[in-house]
Amino acid sequence: MVTCLEPGSRSIFEVGVFLGFSFFFESIVLIVNFCHSKQWTWLIATLVWGFSLEVHSQDARVRLPSITVQEEQHIDAMRVHKAHHFEAKPQAVAPSSLPTVTPSSASLTAHPCAYESEIAKKPPFKTVSLTFDDGPSPERTEFILSILEKYNIPATFFLIGEKVKKHPDLVERIAKSGHHLMGNHSWQHPNFHEIDVDQQEREIAQTQQAVQLYTAEKYFRYPYGNSTCESREQLHQLGYKIVGWHIDSCDWAFDKTGSVSEHDAQICEVKAHNTSSFIDHTLAAIRERGGGIVLLHDIHPNTLKQLEALIVRLQREEFHFERLDGAAFEAFLN
Ligand SMILES: [Zn+2]
Repeated sequence: MVTCLEPGSRSIFEVGVFLGFSFFFESIVLIVNFCHSKQWTWLIATLVWGFSLEVHSQDARVRLPSITVQEEQHIDAMRVHKAHHFEAKPQAVAPSSLPTVTPSSASLTAHPCAYESEIAKKPPFKTVSLTFDDGPSPERTEFILSILEKYNIPATFFLIGEKVKKHPDLVERIAKSGHHLMGNHSWQHPNFHEIDVDQQEREIAQTQQAVQLYTAEKYFRYPYGNSTCESREQLHQLGYKIVGWHIDSCDWAFDKTGSVSEHDAQICEVKAHNTSSFIDHTLAAIRERGGGIVLLHDIHPNTLKQLEALIVRLQREEFHFERLDGAAFEAFLN
């Protein structure tokens, strides 16, 4: 099982275990050395110490599976769709001047059937709700769950139907946690603007069949955030609540080195001083809005590598974590 992703990110417990083992081995060798006073025992001492260091460094080098070709294509598609969003989006409104939500004005934008997933209403202050899209994925979903459990934080997983069918054990694990929500994120993650109404209905219904085996809750998030009037109507008839986001972490835009291109930085509104840090960008976006629903993905390495640090820094800044079905976010679900 994965214990840490980056050297330096290990927990106090892990360091303690390592030091304990090292101390144990070294003590045995020192006792032998004391008893025999021979030079070769020093050689053994060095070898044992070196071995224990190697064991630990192997542990520190544990990596989650690298992304597949299919996932690479998914990320490329995300880039294209986000660029389209950016071009189609009306003039951006500064987060500080967003209107305050009222129950009667909980619509996501002025264009209810188009690019409505970015919530243009002020989120509850100092309250965040983490959402993870595009899973479940072997090891990655488990890793996210382990971090959430460690800090006792609830989240929502928007699942892709065909992956639910492929990895029932992972869905079971999310369900068994008892405090996470699961949502429908379509069967194959198509752009709903590019498929006909029948196919939209199938994407929703097929995924519902798969997800309802694990939860009675009905939450839906559009792939790429692209909705259509017809599917919205169908979702409402089926009793779904449609979930957008206040903050797009833009984990898809930051590359392996943790940097974002000038083009993607413009799309994601990444400030110049944050272009080399996914976590600083995400924190800045959350701070700027004061809180909100955060869009993350389980297929992007930056999310996994920095999830724990993100949670720790948010807690340090006294942000609270709430589920989407809590009172704080009820008014933001459509
Ligand atoms: Zn998605």
